[in-house]
Amino acid sequence: MEFKRFPNSVNQKGCALDLSSLLDEKSVVVAYVYLMSLTASVNTWYQRRVTQRNIVGQFLRKMRRFYLGTFRPEYIQQAISDTRKGDCHRCGLCCELIYKCPFLGRDSQNLPYCRVYGDLRPANCRNYPFDAKDSEIDTCGYTFQPKS
Ligand code: SF4
Repeated sequence: MEFKRFPNSVNQKGCALDLSSLLDEKSVVVAYVYLMSLTASVNTWYQRRVTQRNIVGQFLRKMRRFYLGTFRPEYIQQAISDTRKGDCHRCGLCCELIYKCPFLGRDSQNLPYCRVYGDLRPANCRNYPFDAKDSEIDTCGYTFQPKS
């Protein structure tokens, strides 16, 4: 089988030089640089917003908690053992972040309890709060100290 060679695609040594592939390479580099700067911008935006006490910050923290609790549970366990101090005093406020959890119940003394406490309890709830960034309720019984 014979391949067609176009005059502008042959260099001095007679090697086939595909200009379109060079253009493609340039496009790939431009796309890569664009993607990197976009990633840096998104990361800067995320780092600024994730600690804010507004609905956007709450949403980002919830997503972060879900992601780390589902895919990086070892990170959460490490953060808890390294920095978390104190105890949960059952105020139930973390069960009402953004929306009130449908599994949140109240006992006869109006104390909150989880209706699916145990294995069914989502990682989000089981791990709250796992680090200082995650902690957003000032009256929570847990506090965080940097690892000494
Ligand atoms: S906010 Fe803190 S103290 Fe209150 S129920 Fe949640 S973990 Fe416990």
